[in-house]
Order: sequence, then C-alpha cells, then structure tokens
Amino acid sequence: MSTVLVIGAGGVSSVCVHKMAMNAEIFSSIHLASRTKRKCDAIAESVKERTGQDVATYEIDAEEVPAMVNLIRKIEPSLVVNLALPYQDLPIMDACLEAGVSYLDTANYEPKDEAKFEYKWQWAYHDKFREAGLMALLGSGFDPGVTSVFTMWLKKHKLKSIRQLDILDCNGGDHGQAFATNFNPEINIREVTAPARHWEKGEWVETPAMSVHHRFDFEAVGERNAYLMYHEELESLAKFVPELERARFWMTFGDEYIKHLTVLQNVGMTSIEPVKYQGKEIIPLQFLAAVLPKPETLGETTKGNTNIGCIATGEALDGSGEKTFYIKNICSHEAAYEETGNQAVSYTTGVPAMIGSAMMVQKIWTGAGVFNMEEMDPDPFMEMLNEHGLPWSVEELDGPVEF
Ligand code: NDP
Repeated sequence: MSTVLVIGAGGVSSVCVHKMAMNAEIFSSIHLASRTKRKCDAIAESVKERTGQDVATYEIDAEEVPAMVNLIRKIEPSLVVNLALPYQDLPIMDACLEAGVSYLDTANYEPKDEAKFEYKWQWAYHDKFREAGLMALLGSGFDPGVTSVFTMWLKKHKLKSIRQLDILDCNGGDHGQAFATNFNPEINIREVTAPARHWEKGEWVETPAMSVHHRFDFEAVGERNAYLMYHEELESLAKFVPELERARFWMTFGDEYIKHLTVLQNVGMTSIEPVKYQGKEIIPLQFLAAVLPKPETLGETTKGNTNIGCIATGEALDGSGEKTFYIKNICSHEAAYEETGNQAVSYTTGVPAMIGSAMMVQKIWTGAGVFNMEEMDPDPFMEMLNEHGLPWSVEELDGPVEF
C-alpha cells in the first residue's frame, strides 16, 4: 500500500500509470502531475476505463522547485517517479530532498544547451540523499534499466566475469509515417546525432555518429542494420562491471530514417544553437520536434515487435571455460497498444519504471543515496518482468559476436 506521484504525461508515463493501476495492491494511491493537465486527465480517463482505478491529476512545471515541494507536501507520496524529460531530473531531485521523499527516473540528466548526458550531475547528489536517508534510483527504463539488470542477472547466474558485452536494441515496428521518433523527438535526435562511444580496454573510444553498422538477425523481426551508438548505461556498466574489456551499444535504424535524419542534419534542423526567426529566437531541433508526429499518437498504427537484449561473453560460473549468453525481451507493438493504448517503445520503458517503483515502495530494493540499477539484486525485478508483460529468455550462443 503506497502513494506515488508521477511527473510527466507522455507515452512512458501513460504506460507506467496504467500498469501501476493494474497493481493497486502495491500502488494504492496514484497521483499524476505534468506541464499540461489535459494530458494527465486523458491518461486518468483511460486508466479509469481500463482498470476502474482513480488517478488524481495536477498541473506542474517540474522546473519550479518550490511549486514541486508544495505539491509533494500536499500529496505526501512515498516515491516521486520522474517520467518527464531529462532536463527536469535535477530540479525534481532538489524538490525530493527538500520535501523528504525518494526518487526514481528513466533517463539521466542532460543540460538543455548541450547535447551531453552523463551521470556525474546526479551521482553528485549521492551524499545529500544518503544524509537525508532517502533513495534515488536512476535509469529504471529498458535501456538504461532492463539492459543493466539483464547484465547483472547474467553475472549472478551464468558468468563469473564479463569480458565483452553488446547491447542490441531493435525496434522492428512500422508506424506507417515517413519519419517519426518513438519517444520524445528532441531527446531521441540529440541521442542519435551525438558521436558514438564505446568502452574498450579501460577507455572510451569515439567514432563519428552512425558511422559503424552491422547486419544482425533479430528474432521476431528479421535482419536489420544495427548502428554503434553511445548510450547512458555504458557509463554505469563500465563502473559497476569493472572487468569489462569491451562494452558496446547498437540500435537499429531503417534506411528511410537515416535518409531523413541526414537531410535534416545537413540543413541544420537538428541543431540546438538558437537562431533568430521573425524577431524571435528559436531552437531548430525544438521546432522540428513540434512539427513531427507526437510519439503517443503512433500507437494505433505501429505494427511489429521490439527486440532488445544483451550478448555477454565471459568466464562461466560453473568453471566450464568461456561462454556466451544472449538474454532478451521481445515485445509486440500491437499487444502493448491493446493493453495500455501505447506502442512498445513507451511500453518497454513504462513497465520497468513501474517495476522499479514497486521494488522501492515495497522496500525490496533499499538504500540511502543515489543508485544505479546495477547495484540492486536483479532477481526480484526479473521475476516481475515475466509477470507484468516483458517476459525474457536466455540462451547460450556458440561463441562471442563476430563483429
Ligand atoms: P514525452 O515527450 O512523450 O513526455 C514527456 C512529458 O514530460 C510530457 O508530458 C511533457 O509535458 C512533460 N514535461 C516536459 N517538461 C516538463 C516540465 N518542465 N514540467 C512538467 N512536465 C514536463 O516523452 P516520453 O514519454 O517518450 O519519455 C519520457 C522519459 O522517458 C524521457 O526522459 C525519456 O528520455 C525517457 N525514456 C527512457 C527510455 C529508457 O529505456 N530508459 C526509453 C524512452 C524514453 P507536455 O505534455 O506539456 O509537453
């Protein structure tokens, strides 16, 4: 029995709030606040129709710390679940500290004026959360989130040490649009246009964005081009799995997506440098995000599956030499939409946000300070993935990836 306050009313929030309402024995009182109250009300209405549960809604600018503190004090939740944008992470953490409540998010902090995400800003809050006796759990989505838990599960149950890790994220869904992103377009485009970076022999190796790719045959999707990218869990995995010789992240993109992105980049539409337009300053990428299809509107038309997993090679726990395991989840866009009214990219993030919240409010995962998913026992989280719509499988491969 617990009271939670969810911030943000996009696709990820919608899934998380629906799933919380489906687990009313864990989340007995759900409160939802965002910049646009109408969007909170629409989620609450759908939740009521689908589950019969009530969700209380509020309007809030999460960057206004005093207003956030007042809202938290009024609701008295045991947890604040931040499903707004990475820009709001630090103000929401400040508000949690002031109001004395624990915190969870799905994406690490990113300053608005620099396309750079890193854990350093949030890790710097560790002592403040520890001294306040509060817990902050970072990155409880799919990637980061489940991919970190998958890796730690392999380390607990299959491999004594992990030498090589490849995270493969394939969205095989087709939304029928010429160009659209499956989660917040501004954050998504900032991520994919940043230089690629992977961990190798104790240091970061940088390559130009989208310059390295390989074909990979994804179960339930088929062959796709997977592009080397930087992704935030590489930073925490390199820290918490120190023996890693190499860790890489791959994401699939279709030729149409790459073609559109290349043109948009070439004409300057993905820039975050302000430009003057008719006497007003605008940021091209924010304008582009405003004209692109809203991710939460893609659910109805998206067909196909996502397939996200980790391939890890290392010394087997049972002493049988070097082994390679592939652990993954396959999620259907149509099934996700039928259950929650949202496509699978929101679903695969919103469900782990609900599970991370369940771990915290039930005190299965505890601690005082700022934590990454790698620091927690993977088993109870993995059990809940199987029970709440994201079943996973693990298989042994003949050897390490060939690329
Ligand atoms: P959306 O853009 O769909 O939703 C973001 C929501 O946050 C919107 O409702 C928006 O309000 C609200 N918001 C923005 N600024 C503020 C503010 N200052 N105060 C209050 N609310 C605000 O994003 P998604 O649902 O796709 O993604 C949500 C989060 O999940 C993002 O941080 C994203 O990076 C992360 N994510 C993580 C993944 C993972 O696997 N770990 C994968 C996918 C996403 P408004 O409606 O008014 O714009």
